[in-house]
Amino acid sequence: IVQVSNLRKSFGDLDVLKNITFEIEKNQVVAVIGPSGSGKSTMLRSLIHLEQIDGGSVSVGGQDLVKEGVYANHQELKRITSKMGMVFQHFNLFPHLTVKENLELAPKYVKGEQGDQIAQRSTELLKKVGLSDKANVYPSKLSGGQKQRVAIARALMMNPEIMLFDEPTSALDPELTGEVLQVIKQLAAEQITMIIVTHEMGFAKEVADKILFMDQGEITESGTPEEIFMNPKSERTKAFINYVL
Ligand code: ATP
Ligand code: MG
Repeated sequence: IVQVSNLRKSFGDLDVLKNITFEIEKNQVVAVIGPSGSGKSTMLRSLIHLEQIDGGSVSVGGQDLVKEGVYANHQELKRITSKMGMVFQHFNLFPHLTVKENLELAPKYVKGEQGDQIAQRSTELLKKVGLSDKANVYPSKLSGGQKQRVAIARALMMNPEIMLFDEPTSALDPELTGEVLQVIKQLAAEQITMIIVTHEMGFAKEVADKILFMDQGEITESGTPEEIFMNPKSERTKAFINYVL
């Protein structure tokens, strides 16, 4: 469902992504791990066109977002990126809108859907993330874990084919991490296709079908959790795993 080949990206002189190539199948859960600064966020942001890449191809659901460095037109870009929902480390909720309004904003203005359909979906999704009682409160009244669960529900409002998570728990206190991981696990059980950048190795091992290990702008190793955690091929992966576990 996602194909990336020879993706390249630089910030000035810094080659942040070098020849990134990988594929993700429908219903797969892929975890991206690797040291700080290795390009994980930039890679994820490139998939949803929050970063402009310098070369290579990205296709999503069989449609080319960018092919050999040439981007699709504006209309197409919108259509392709709307297949993906993204959840950020720092939640990025709208502070002046209630939880329910945060969920309903994009579907209302982007898609022009019926109000009652949207309201029904937001009610369902808040229930799913365990926040039915918070529909009318403002984000400032929520814990970090609750905010992140709202952000997940908000991304799901657009019925994405793929969910992208960039370190969804790394801004949270340890005791709030579990409730967010639980929601993501539930999505994995529903076979939602996901790419998750995470430092939670236990979680990656448990939910991922495939792990990509990134180092200095390259995917230096990929495989099943077993292969990566029990039997890493490269010294670099070994060192990282030993360091974080
Ligand atoms: P972390 O685990 O700390 O989140 P990461 O693997 O997500 O790290 P990126 O955020 O993708 O790494 O950054 C990769 C490299 O690109 C880093 O050296 C970073 O400093 C650099 N970088 C990222 N964004 C920009 C930017 N907008 N301008 C210049 N350099 C950037
Ligand atoms: Mg990052």
